[in-house]
Amino acid sequence: MEAIQDIVNNLRPILTLLGLLIGAYVVLLWAASVLWAYRDIRSRSDDVSVQVLAVGLVLAMPFIGIPLHMLLRPRQTLAERYERTLEEEYLRRDIEEKNTCPACHRPIESDFLLCPYCHTALRRNCASCQRVVDLTWSVCPYCGYDGNTIILHSMPGYAPEPVRRTRPPETQQ
Ligand SMILES: [Zn+2]
Ligand SMILES: [Zn+2]
Repeated sequence: MEAIQDIVNNLRPILTLLGLLIGAYVVLLWAASVLWAYRDIRSRSDDVSVQVLAVGLVLAMPFIGIPLHMLLRPRQTLAERYERTLEEEYLRRDIEEKNTCPACHRPIESDFLLCPYCHTALRRNCASCQRVVDLTWSVCPYCGYDGNTIILHSMPGYAPEPVRRTRPPETQQ
């Protein structure tokens, strides 16, 4: 009996230390989870009351608060939402620009050369290949014609077709 009592007495400080360590670890985890929730909600909402609520939830309910927060938090981060609205805006503008006249905003087809309502020039035909090109382009993307020459042929690295002889080759002697 004496021996067992001795062992328990010897173990007590070790057990106390272990308990303290586990306690400190749990508190640290809880603090980390609160910090994580704070940073997470800040990336998802600008609303201070929403931020306070989310942090309060995780603070008041250690560990259970995290899955709750993940259920309740806004699905998209602010960056994702911003990107999405930007994308939608581009898409909308693209569709609008393509299908309406820039002058009178009436519907047009994408291959119209001029607006049938207000006669605004929309596109032009390339003088070289006759394909429809944008008025703002300085060179035809199809054949390389820039109004004077077909610039593709003067680019370095472009191997031009062999020049056809105008005279027949000299007869061999
Ligand atoms: Zn028009
Ligand atoms: Zn062309």
